[in-house]
Amino acid sequence: MSDIERTVIIGSGPAGWSAAIYAARANLRPLLFEGTAKPEMIPLGQLAFTTEVENYAGFPAGNIRAFVESAVDSQRHYNLPPAPKGHEKDGLPHYAVQGVELMELMKQQALNFGTRVVGDDIVDVDFSSRPLKVVPASGDAVEAQTVIVATGARANYLGLESEEEYKNRGVSACAVCDGALPMYRRKPLAVIGGGDTAVEEASYLANLDGAETIYLVHRRDELRASQVMQDRAMNHPKIQLVWNSVVEEVLGDGTKVTAIRLKNTKDDTQSELAVAGMFVAIGHTPNTTFLQGKLEMNSSGYIKWSEAFRTKTSVPGVFAAGDVADDYYRQAITSAGTGCMAALDAERYLAELGH
Ligand SMILES: Cc1cc2nc3c(=O)[nH]c(=O)nc-3n(C[C@H](O)[C@H](O)[C@H](O)COP(=O)(O)OP(=O)(O)OC[C@H]3O[C@@H](n4cnc5c(N)ncnc54)[C@H](O)[C@@H]3O)c2cc1C
Repeated sequence: MSDIERTVIIGSGPAGWSAAIYAARANLRPLLFEGTAKPEMIPLGQLAFTTEVENYAGFPAGNIRAFVESAVDSQRHYNLPPAPKGHEKDGLPHYAVQGVELMELMKQQALNFGTRVVGDDIVDVDFSSRPLKVVPASGDAVEAQTVIVATGARANYLGLESEEEYKNRGVSACAVCDGALPMYRRKPLAVIGGGDTAVEEASYLANLDGAETIYLVHRRDELRASQVMQDRAMNHPKIQLVWNSVVEEVLGDGTKVTAIRLKNTKDDTQSELAVAGMFVAIGHTPNTTFLQGKLEMNSSGYIKWSEAFRTKTSVPGVFAAGDVADDYYRQAITSAGTGCMAALDAERYLAELGH
């Protein structure tokens, strides 16, 4: 590590690696802290918790060989990988990039351009003077001219053992990410929650081609969502509200979800709802505890951008990218996009200072 780093990146999801790729190519020699494993958070970000990723541009799912053969010039077919063994559907090769695989590729791309990676958490920062300082769990403070925060946000779950057992096998926290997967497609599903996000997730699923009934399960007898969203849920022919109910258990056959067991919060009666999937939509928690009081945040702890369409934060030289500054889109591709923006913003900031 040099005395004063030009750019320190905190976080190892799509935002962190994209920022690193751009910063490294701009000769900022980024130093990236990738974090350590904890419940609901691991290096390589939230995608490392999932299996198939079907919606990241450039990684089509399906019979990729046939797709590329039809899409690119025959001279480029030599570098087509064969579909991995065991990935067939209807007798044809079928493959979608796995979450971990996609993240490993992003990390490799950042390493290829000279990004230096430290397997540690940043536990504190001092942004009150120059140079900026970030403090890793196991060492001395690192000084930096610019810092890119890309620590992401983790989905909140109900905390049930059975929910844990069926994650990625019928339990998800992202309808936009997973709703179109075969295990959920054209099947009755449950969305848990009563806020705007829950209604949005339910509406998204209900509007998919051939959607079955989408049960919106809420523990109270009214939604917390805005009136517009409430109307959308109430008036949708495919959305059925299940009031005063909490999930007690996710039921399955060992490989997939078959139902959820509900308890009525008014009279404690129990019932079963036959569904092929449960989407938990009870909010996210941004990973900003170590930044409390150091950067301006919204009431939910997401970092605020101080200027529209710029990744600048309330502290000059500190930029925020990905889900940590986004409580709305929360996608890998939007995170990668803002990661790129943060690196360009950092580069321009340094150029303006004459570095
Ligand atoms: C199960 C699941 C499936 C999903 N599927 C899809 C999908 O199919 N398509 C899609 O587009 N999106 C999907 N998403 C959403 C997507 O994963 C996120 O939008 C995206 O990963 C956010 O990227 P990020 O870089 O902002 O943060 P993250 O991916 O959350 O990465 C941040 C990482 O930074 C590290 N970190 C955190 N705090 C610190 C610290 N203090 N010091 C050092 N390091 C730290 C951690 O390792 C953390 O994992 C899915 C999410 C989940 C949970």
